[in-house]
Amino acid sequence: MSEQNIDQSEVGKFEAIARRWWDPNSEFKPLHDINPLRVSYITDRVTIQDKRVLDVGCGGGILSESLTKAGALVTGIDAGERPISVAKLHQFESGCEIDYQQTTVEEFAQHSPEPFDVITCLEMLEHVPNPDSVIETCAALLKPGGNLFLSTINRNPKSYLFMVIGAEYVLNMLPKGTHRYEKFLRPAEIASSLRKHGFDLQDITGMTYNPLLKSYRLGKDVDVNYLVHAVKH
Ligand code: SAH
Repeated sequence: MSEQNIDQSEVGKFEAIARRWWDPNSEFKPLHDINPLRVSYITDRVTIQDKRVLDVGCGGGILSESLTKAGALVTGIDAGERPISVAKLHQFESGCEIDYQQTTVEEFAQHSPEPFDVITCLEMLEHVPNPDSVIETCAALLKPGGNLFLSTINRNPKSYLFMVIGAEYVLNMLPKGTHRYEKFLRPAEIASSLRKHGFDLQDITGMTYNPLLKSYRLGKDVDVNYLVHAVKH
């Protein structure tokens, strides 16, 4: 397992804009907008009340806070210094109590923490050099029967058109350069990594954006954004 599974230029993109993390009209608008869908996807599939949840690549804490409000005991980790500071500060405003740490998942695992019931790693895998190492480390950090939730972006001409050209250049929803096409991950690649590290794949669900309605929904179309649920056996 690599201790340095981190791409500083990717983390740097988030450092630069982190102070606007909780502004729902900033670069982080898409994360705010998809968050209720992600939270219901997770809470429809597992009971998180009083469960130990690790949020990997938590950023400014949008998902971590929602899971805390839904009753989970959350630890949030992120490689970025500013996203973690923003997340820590925002707790004072929201009254959430989350254990935030600036670290990678590989480094975090070396301190042999108590295993987790649930691990979430959303919108992060497409920013790390070695996503397979993240999945392997999540397996090591989960209890047997524990649940893993991932989300990322598929790799095909449509996802290039939607996420890079559409979101970054046409609709200006994301800063230019947010996503690198070659880092996108096909569902089959995620599935094979999950199998390799002792997970049973439970579900893959797409998250689609309708630019006319300016709204997102969950469904069968996994061509661009998608969520994954797996259980460690
Ligand atoms: N998961 C959050 C934030 C997604 S943005 C959400 O969906 O709301 C991606 C985050 O991944 C950024 O905060 C960035 O700092 C973090 N990140 C990138 N590479 C990382 C790595 N190797 N280890 C941990 N966090 C990383």
